[in-house]
Amino acid sequence: MLVYFEELPLAGRDFVWQLLTLDEDCGCEPDGPLEARCHVQPAGPGRATIEGRLSGTVLLQCDRCLRTYPFRLDAPFLVRAVAPGVSGNGIPADAAAPIFEASDLDLIELDSPCVELEALMREQLLLTLPEKRLCRDSCAGLCPYCGASRDDQPCDCGQKNTVSAFAALAGPRLGKTKNK
Ligand SMILES: [Zn+2]
Ligand SMILES: [Zn+2]
Repeated sequence: MLVYFEELPLAGRDFVWQLLTLDEDCGCEPDGPLEARCHVQPAGPGRATIEGRLSGTVLLQCDRCLRTYPFRLDAPFLVRAVAPGVSGNGIPADAAAPIFEASDLDLIELDSPCVELEALMREQLLLTLPEKRLCRDSCAGLCPYCGASRDDQPCDCGQKNTVSAFAALAGPRLGKTKNK
């Protein structure tokens, strides 16, 4: 969905649509349609403020137990887009009032004074996904020995391993003791 800033009315325009698929590299799948909303507000030559929200549920994979779990998305965002060096109505962009500070983290630079809303929404989605993905904070993860989920089926691998490790250490020592 390509939006040209110069075609926007002064009051801006609202866009509402549904995201049905996500990029494979975002590592998640939508669980039902995701609702995407944006308000694009022109803010001078080559500039616009984009306020949006993405809501719905995505399926993430737990980093510990590898199970898929639903993650509720409700991600409002506000970005300011600027196409450098673009002049509008004969006014060079440099002469425009400095609406944006260069240090703003939410500033995005565009090649031309238009924005691809769907792509922007996908980028924003990646920013809102948790870095550490856990089905729940207390997830015990998988047993490193048998691979069982330690929440579902407690196993005694850890115990066995501790025993065998001690046994291995104890073996030679016992032998030495015997020889003495
Ligand atoms: Zn988990
Ligand atoms: Zn185990």
